[in-house]
Amino acid sequence: MKLPSYAATFVTATLLTSLTGTAVTAAAAQRDGAAALPSVNMEAAVKAAQIDPRRADDTLTPGAKASVLLVEQALRDRHLLDAKWVDGYFGTTTIAAYAKYQKSLGYSGLGANGLPGKASLTKLGADRFTVSRPIGPGSRVSSGGVVINTRTQSMLAEAKRLAGRNLVLDQGSYNPGGDPTSAGTHDGGGVVDISVKGMTSATRTSVARALRQVGFAAWVRSPAQGDWPWHIHAVAINDTDLSTQAQHQVGDYYLGLNGLSGRGPDDGPKVTIRTWEEYQRR
Ligand SMILES: [Zn+2]
Repeated sequence: MKLPSYAATFVTATLLTSLTGTAVTAAAAQRDGAAALPSVNMEAAVKAAQIDPRRADDTLTPGAKASVLLVEQALRDRHLLDAKWVDGYFGTTTIAAYAKYQKSLGYSGLGANGLPGKASLTKLGADRFTVSRPIGPGSRVSSGGVVINTRTQSMLAEAKRLAGRNLVLDQGSYNPGGDPTSAGTHDGGGVVDISVKGMTSATRTSVARALRQVGFAAWVRSPAQGDWPWHIHAVAINDTDLSTQAQHQVGDYYLGLNGLSGRGPDDGPKVTIRTWEEYQRR
């Protein structure tokens, strides 16, 4: 049977509409301005917020300038940051302004640690910017008698695979005041101490290397360096739950330092520094 020509036209038009539906929606969004908003790369902004406060100069973190500027402009417009600090450098003044913004949203403690979190950053960007490459610490879980978050858990699982051995945690995260020798580094998320019991010096180094490869700032610590037994201290780069002290250790790691208060040179195995998300995309 031959369809009347008007019926064939109707069928063709319906098919075309369904095929082009996505493009039509995108075009409509562009007309409304929604697709024209700039985007903040959250991974880059959080990385800058850990490194820039530790810099001796005003060097910008590569790849972060445009994103940091968008954040700083939004903070300025909320009267939380003076215009002279809107420069693409996520230094201590911008950290303090971001923490003030987090407090204004009702967050406290780690929720107001000055590092952009996904929820606060999304709110800051309402009608101004979208958030690309969002990151988060995941939920808190118990692991071998200590508490860590699920992002750290995934990172440790991959480090175990690379090292080819089990890793035992001496101390976990979210542990304020748990270990007075840790100077607040374990108060937030992303930080663990790994037992080196029974490991040779070479094994300790290879475990530290595996931890670094998956995105930890990790160091073998000796009794000569502090009031502690041999262990490996590891801080998950770009964990948005990091305490201030742990944020500083990540920044120092990027700057080639050892993460101790004396700010000595890094004494660990050299690897290409990557975050967990960068490692997964490598
Ligand atoms: Zn530690």
